[in-house]
Amino acid sequence: MFYKSTRSNQKAVKTAAEVIKQGLAEDGGLFVPDTIPTLSQGEIEALCKMDYPTRAATVLAKFLGDYTFEELLEDCRAAYDEKSFVGGAAPLVNIHDQFESLELWHGPTAAFKDMALQIMPRLLSRALIKTGETRTALILVATSGDTGKAALEGYKDVPHIKIMVFYPVDGVSRVQKLQMATQTGSNVNVCAIRGNFDDAQNGVKAIFGDKAMADALNEKGYFFSSANSINWGRLAPQIVYYVSAYCDLLNAGKCKLGDSFNVCVPTGNFGNIFAAYLAKLMGLPIHHMVCASNTNNILTDFLRTGTYDRNRDFYLTMSPSMDILISSNLERLLYFTAGSEKTAAYMDALKKNGCYTVEAEVLAEIRKNFSGYFTDEKTTEATIRTTYEKYGYLADTHTAVAIHAAEEYVKESNDTRPMIIDSTASPYKFANNVYRAVTDKEATTDLDALDELAAATNTEIPYPLAGLASRKVNFEKTVEKDQMVAAVLEYLNA
Ligand SMILES: *Cc1c(COP(=O)(O)O)cnc(C)c1O
Repeated sequence: MFYKSTRSNQKAVKTAAEVIKQGLAEDGGLFVPDTIPTLSQGEIEALCKMDYPTRAATVLAKFLGDYTFEELLEDCRAAYDEKSFVGGAAPLVNIHDQFESLELWHGPTAAFKDMALQIMPRLLSRALIKTGETRTALILVATSGDTGKAALEGYKDVPHIKIMVFYPVDGVSRVQKLQMATQTGSNVNVCAIRGNFDDAQNGVKAIFGDKAMADALNEKGYFFSSANSINWGRLAPQIVYYVSAYCDLLNAGKCKLGDSFNVCVPTGNFGNIFAAYLAKLMGLPIHHMVCASNTNNILTDFLRTGTYDRNRDFYLTMSPSMDILISSNLERLLYFTAGSEKTAAYMDALKKNGCYTVEAEVLAEIRKNFSGYFTDEKTTEATIRTTYEKYGYLADTHTAVAIHAAEEYVKESNDTRPMIIDSTASPYKFANNVYRAVTDKEATTDLDALDELAAATNTEIPYPLAGLASRKVNFEKTVEKDQMVAAVLEYLNA
């Protein structure tokens, strides 16, 4: 299997290892496979009997033709082991008759980014060897909190890779700061900067684009690489949990082999929900995909009107991981629906005008598979409360956005198929908002909110967030925003 750019009609020539190492195509497009492998009913039956790591290796082997099954199984076992994912990687938890929560947050940072970031670095590490790279990859990340921690946990102690994370010293919560400052691992570094998130991001971008810096690194045996969410190595592993969820539905007797089901995904960058679409193209019987947004409802508008328009207000919500106006992975859906020429034109218009409109037949094709709904702040809070009171299920803010969207879809469509709702973060990851929703009281501080939520709901704080305040702080450094280059060099020289 080979890969090509979403924006080019040239023949696919790159291997999986090459695209995982490279990230973005030369023309600015995203990498896509030239064919979609299939998943037969017989294979699904066999997958039902496997554990999550073996399911993952089996599905990934279909896409990553230049990795052996043994390599993938070794990596999946290491990524999704019982110690990191206590109780299993992607369990299905019943909410009520029709809704099942697919909990993707049992990993080392209690959020769904772990599902991709635990495996992707291992795939990259092998890609370096497969492509004859002798240098060490240096991953630089600017973070407003959650992605940085998930990346640190994913890359820590992975051979041939080092990672350095920058965060704005006053721009992350106390919990997030503690999570990063107490990071362990032999190849990690964390540095706060005096500035905001944009300063951190601009600083990282400037370093990536700095030729003198690249030369200096090269001399030391390093090159820059990125942990970007559009990397194929982050997308492919996400196909697995839809296959796995269907197996679990079958194993639980909730449907019969061949019966279809729906999924509802709290969406930001469109990566997670696009993985569901790929699973469907492979033959997994997904009937419909509900794309759930918060007040930043650019995708809802797109799926209803065919116009994607970034020229709009941006809102900070209590589901911050979906506060996004550029859903990069939508480009991959456009490619599969409209082809590379139109995709290149849409992306060109987006760059020039911040806006594009797809043709009526393209929209109609997309709407066969997708519907968009959005949930505002008040309704998100109310959904957390009612889901907890009626069904005893404690949802985080992102999951609540999806639960409400799924309810709206069912109301409008009368579709009675089982609905898999992606639960993308532990309620403890956003403890103060969840605490307020279920108790109508404010938590004392964001750190205290963890214990207060546990006491109020009689649930347990997940291990990545428990006892944070008493862990050893390993990183205390704060630098000026124009000192980031020096901080990188100091780390590499140490
Ligand atoms: C990243 C993230 C999302 C959005 O996922 P996309 O793949 O970007 O659509 C939703 N919820 C949480 C908690 C996240 O961290």
